[in-house]
Amino acid sequence: MNKNLLKTLIIIGLTFTTITALQAKVAVIGAGLAGLTAAYNLDNKGFDVELYEARERPGGRVHSAILEHADGTTTIAELGAQNIGDGGDAEYLLALAAMLGLEIETQYISSGIEFHNEAEHSDLYDSVRAEPLNTESLHQQIQALRTNSELNSLQDAIDIIFPEDTPFKQMVELRLRCDIGSDLSDLDPYYNLNALHYMAWQLMHMAEQETGPILIENTSIKGGNAMLPLTLAEHLREKIYYGKVLKSVHESGDQIKLTFTDGSTVECEELILAIPASVYKNIEFDNTIIPAERLQKINAISYGTLSKILVPIEETDALKHNDASRQSIAFTTSNTRVLNLFFGGETGANVAKNKDDLFRNSMGMVKSSHGPVFGETSPIIADDKAFTHYKGSITKSWKDDSFTQGSYSTYGKNNPAEFATTSEYEGVEIKTLFLPIDNRVFFAGEHLSIENNGSMEGAVESGYQVSELF
Ligand SMILES: Cc1cc2nc3c(=O)[nH]c(=O)nc-3n(C[C@H](O)[C@H](O)[C@H](O)COP(=O)(O)OP(=O)(O)OC[C@H]3O[C@@H](n4cnc5c(N)ncnc54)[C@H](O)[C@@H]3O)c2cc1C
Repeated sequence: MNKNLLKTLIIIGLTFTTITALQAKVAVIGAGLAGLTAAYNLDNKGFDVELYEARERPGGRVHSAILEHADGTTTIAELGAQNIGDGGDAEYLLALAAMLGLEIETQYISSGIEFHNEAEHSDLYDSVRAEPLNTESLHQQIQALRTNSELNSLQDAIDIIFPEDTPFKQMVELRLRCDIGSDLSDLDPYYNLNALHYMAWQLMHMAEQETGPILIENTSIKGGNAMLPLTLAEHLREKIYYGKVLKSVHESGDQIKLTFTDGSTVECEELILAIPASVYKNIEFDNTIIPAERLQKINAISYGTLSKILVPIEETDALKHNDASRQSIAFTTSNTRVLNLFFGGETGANVAKNKDDLFRNSMGMVKSSHGPVFGETSPIIADDKAFTHYKGSITKSWKDDSFTQGSYSTYGKNNPAEFATTSEYEGVEIKTLFLPIDNRVFFAGEHLSIENNGSMEGAVESGYQVSELF
């Protein structure tokens, strides 16, 4: 057998799994990539599995839309997850996609950035040259910060490395805010030092290479990332129930009783909660299902507020470099004719409220670099359906989304320690905060991933791993 195919099959657990008679009834809550992967794998193993999803679509934070251009042609754009490569090698996701017969496509983003501060424009490469730091001295400073016990937030670490408010510092801050999603003063300094190191190093390294801007790979599922959850959902078909918002979880004899907001109830023997940690606070749990102390800690996990505005544009590769200001990053990928505007932290949290102003300011910035090649329609708020077709710009605030309430989990400065430590459970390393409870309540979601939290890969990995505990 082809070696890659064998690896794929082993990761998905199908080679050595025979379909057996129906086993214990397992309920999975949440049809994002984590819940879908868990249910798909359990179904393949012969478990009696049912999946309950609050929305009318699968995919959660994977949400593709279609944007129409003035000439009537269309481009697929991503309101949520975009780049598979954000999950490192993404071996679980790539194996799953291959298993389902989905293709991956690669686009490219320029590494060039023009930073706009009021009327002043600075080129990334010039800004790095003006910095006293280089990649080697950056490394030494980061190492020194690891043992500095005085830091209160990631912002403190940045202020020590970059004491002056230079354009390069502002670029590093903006990139981090748009990557992690949070304001840097809300982030734990120590757990996020690697992100700071990597971000500043990457920008410096590119500038230190005298070759000028390079093209950075961006990978996605061909036809839109939502093809992955939709294909998984297609396999699970009548085992998924939509419009089911979990409200409470109680004991019922030797069963677990789930009650949904529409009044319906379901009993199960085992439960997988594949919902974001940010929404546990909306659900009532018996103390024996999730002890109050554990629940309180899950509720304390911080989430970013990354949001986007997506603008259909008329010229392919119109942007040879990206534009950034203190508020937003604007970029296109090769051949897609969509301008992506990213907003993090406080600005991202208020995208829906301030969408017209943010759109106008960002478009002003982009036009001052590239000329009037873009659409003018102010964004409308996208609906919660997959592949809706729009004629103008769209936006989506994940902070305002009832079933996510943020973009993805972060290492916030008030997070419980157990979010960053791991324990062994049946030979598997699991975040201590999400260890299974009494071998009947299990957890999944991007927030469980040790290496790849906040990514599609993290979600698929967690779904696969939880299904392997059965
Ligand atoms: C703006 C943005 C950009 C991103 N960019 C990238 C990127 O470029 N690359 C990348 O790899 N990742 C990216 N991500 C992260 C990625 O989207 C997530 O990590 C991943 O999709 C999370 O999957 P999940 O299954 O853990 O959670 P979700 O997708 O959130 O799925 C959880 C499901 O639970 C459901 N649910 C919630 N509450 C209830 C309830 N009470 N009852 C029933 N169901 C409920 C939700 O509706 C949802 O469908 C991005 C995310 C955002 C928001």
